[in-house]
Amino acid sequence: MSRVYNFSAGPAALPTEVLEQAQAEMLDWNGSGMSVMEMSHRGKDYMSIAAKAEADLRELMDVPDNYKVLFLQGGASSQFAMVPINLLNGKKSADYLLTGQWSKKAVAEARRFCNVNLVADTTDSKFTTVPDEASLKFDPDAAYVHYTPNETIVGVEFDYIPDTGDVPLVADMSSTILSRKIDVSKFGIIYAGAQKNIGPAGLTIVIVREDLIGNADASMPVMFDYKTFADNDSMYNTPPTYSWYLAGLVFAWGLKKGGMSAIEAINRRKAEKLYKAIDDSAFFSNPVDVQYRSWMNVPFILANADLDATFIEQAAAKGLVTLKGHRSVGGMRASIYNAMPEEGVDALIAFMQEFERNHG
Ligand SMILES: *Cc1c(COP(=O)(O)O)cnc(C)c1O
Repeated sequence: MSRVYNFSAGPAALPTEVLEQAQAEMLDWNGSGMSVMEMSHRGKDYMSIAAKAEADLRELMDVPDNYKVLFLQGGASSQFAMVPINLLNGKKSADYLLTGQWSKKAVAEARRFCNVNLVADTTDSKFTTVPDEASLKFDPDAAYVHYTPNETIVGVEFDYIPDTGDVPLVADMSSTILSRKIDVSKFGIIYAGAQKNIGPAGLTIVIVREDLIGNADASMPVMFDYKTFADNDSMYNTPPTYSWYLAGLVFAWGLKKGGMSAIEAINRRKAEKLYKAIDDSAFFSNPVDVQYRSWMNVPFILANADLDATFIEQAAAKGLVTLKGHRSVGGMRASIYNAMPEEGVDALIAFMQEFERNHG
């Protein structure tokens, strides 16, 4: 058996150690005689798995006590609706920063519920930059401010946390959560689909400040009310039990690696060396403003796009897969989430240099 280096943007690679543990526990979890998939979510075995996953995530991210951690379904895309449903609380408008394809979807969904005030819109730059912090003028009466710290498709990432004063800040961290240390207390809500940096698809993590729970209008479906899940340890109905379990293994793996400072240092190194290889070359390029380049998603284009298919094919032959860029951007994209070891990035760089020697 051989494992490839999988640069997929999501669902993405998982740590091999985590998959091996899941494999070892597949048929008989801890003497229970059954797989985690087959357990009642209300049983004591599963409750212990769920509680440990939450405790480990809280430790990893240093989540303050006045925040709930919810384990939901519906993907980050459901949060595009759940956020306005829960946070408008009688207000008529919300501030949004439009900096890429994902925030654009969040904006479109929010418009079904309220007036969206675009505090920033980087469409004209083809989303290759983020607004200067000083240029942001927030509405003090907005229900909340929403932004996407890392835009997965173009690979553009804020290097600052917007200061929104008393207005709750909401962040779609799907592709940046757990990539570096963050101060959770600066946010009203952090949400993320699991399938990038947390675990398998099917699970959505929502970290929400307690005062923002319980304000959804009574006419709203219970499944879209944070209170439903906050009051029931995310077990109002059947949660995505296996994804939750695997996410828990990933959190424990992160703690074992040394926590967020250690993970951040590795991620910084991985991103820096890949961008350096791109910048040092006359053959590869990346269009994003240097200051705002993503640590997790690194798109690059070849000087000759006719060679894209050859690049993909030869890379795959070396076990470097899922490098094709998003259809809206073209070229290549290497997603280098936590589960991508530094050796995988080194192997990609070596291949890029060889390809340039042969075709540049
Ligand atoms: C992947 C992604 C999404 C969509 O997530 P789903 O879980 O598929 O709904 C939303 N926002 C960002 C930033 C993403 O990277």
